Amino acid sequence: MIGTELGQMRRTHYSDQITQSMDGSQVTVMGWILTVRGHGNICFATISDKNGEISLVAKKGGCPDELREKISSLKPHSSVGIVGMVKSSEKAPGGYELVPQELRVFSEVQKTPPFEPTAKTVKNIDTRLESRPIDLRRAPMRHIFNARSQVLQAVRNYFAREQFVEINTPKMIATATEGGAALFSIFYYNKGAFLAQSPQLYKEQLTMSFEKVCEIAPIFRAEASRTNRHLSEAISIDLEEAFVDYNDIMDRIGQIITASVGAVSAYVKKHPDAEFAVPDVPEEIPRYKYEDLVARMQKAGAKTEWGDDLYPSSLKKIGLEGFYFITDWPLAPKPFYVKESASDPKISESFDLMFGDLEISSGSTRVEKSQKLSQRLADKGLDPDKFGYHLGAFEYGVPPHAGCGIGLERLLMALTGTENIRDVTFYPRDVDRLAP
Ligand code: ATP
Ligand code: MG
Repeated sequence: MIGTELGQMRRTHYSDQITQSMDGSQVTVMGWILTVRGHGNICFATISDKNGEISLVAKKGGCPDELREKISSLKPHSSVGIVGMVKSSEKAPGGYELVPQELRVFSEVQKTPPFEPTAKTVKNIDTRLESRPIDLRRAPMRHIFNARSQVLQAVRNYFAREQFVEINTPKMIATATEGGAALFSIFYYNKGAFLAQSPQLYKEQLTMSFEKVCEIAPIFRAEASRTNRHLSEAISIDLEEAFVDYNDIMDRIGQIITASVGAVSAYVKKHPDAEFAVPDVPEEIPRYKYEDLVARMQKAGAKTEWGDDLYPSSLKKIGLEGFYFITDWPLAPKPFYVKESASDPKISESFDLMFGDLEISSGSTRVEKSQKLSQRLADKGLDPDKFGYHLGAFEYGVPPHAGCGIGLERLLMALTGTENIRDVTFYPRDVDRLAP
């Protein structure tokens, strides 16, 4: 009746598959202990599985004494399997309780956890990150990462529907590609190499053969500053498409955001205790020109000049909220592969997708002409020899193309109303954290 091995025992139902109407039927559930309250002759426990919670009631006479005593001795987080009878109950959270008939304790916990598994909030994020595997068992975390999974599925479905080819590009690279972000150096056999800051050059090359490509993979950036929105290792949803320009990519982003918000809304509908602040997506995400926003900032008293980056502090001054694009950025600070505007060589065909003052994505039309690309490299003071392989490809008919990178964690912050990027990352990497 009380075992310790899985043996032939198998789950018949997840917590969210058991209903009041199953009164009297026998089920096998698996999970971990969340709470235990013993009252001598009666013991209440909750067990959790990946989908939710199950209330357990072991009463004297209702189940063997030995079983009731064992359950009341269990500490939170112990891993268990239980065969029990469903008993409908108006008082219980899901409208039913489980009366245990057989118990297996696979891993019995002896230690007191650093925080309660039922804690809605834990003040110190470092305490939580130190014990991340058990932190992720808390309901608010479970909701975030289950929703993340749904968002990824929605994005992948979108790419499949639109006939994108999913690619994977090398993460160990020889050349520091784009400038800007600092890279991580690694040893590659007897040579120095880097971790890729983005799949940029590879995804552009792959438009030559596959035309519409997407990649969902890590990017690595040595971000020395401690902010709530920068990781050293982030997941980027990249797309690159032939025969379109940046306006078409903004349309696609609108569709991807709509699909993502839809996925999170559906999740919240099923799990009303997921306390997300799900944002609205307007039918058309507004597009503001960089120069117009600079003018608005100056009017609002910011010191921003044409050519400056637009910092959160100045964006806050003009109070833009929700999702919007900032388009047509100055060309000079943009990487060499970004195309200049046909109407003004000082401006680029580029955009950032914003959510309030948070940047979610950057994208642009790219340079497709070989000579232009070489000239842009030279203007930036980059060594053309280092880009030999890339420039070589451009001698064989690169199509006009455009694309973007969407930060998955930034997107999730916007979709769930999360302030700290670490909360939407399984195992965050930052200046101070390389473990666990
Ligand atoms: P920021 O200005 O916010 O540092 P960026 O302009 O340097 O970002 P891009 O090179 O444009 O970033 O990268 C495309 C997208 O990848 C960004 O819009 C963002 O969503 C995401 N991203 C970039 N760097 C990071 C990072 N260090 N941590 C998390 N996400 C990032
Ligand atoms: Mg950017």
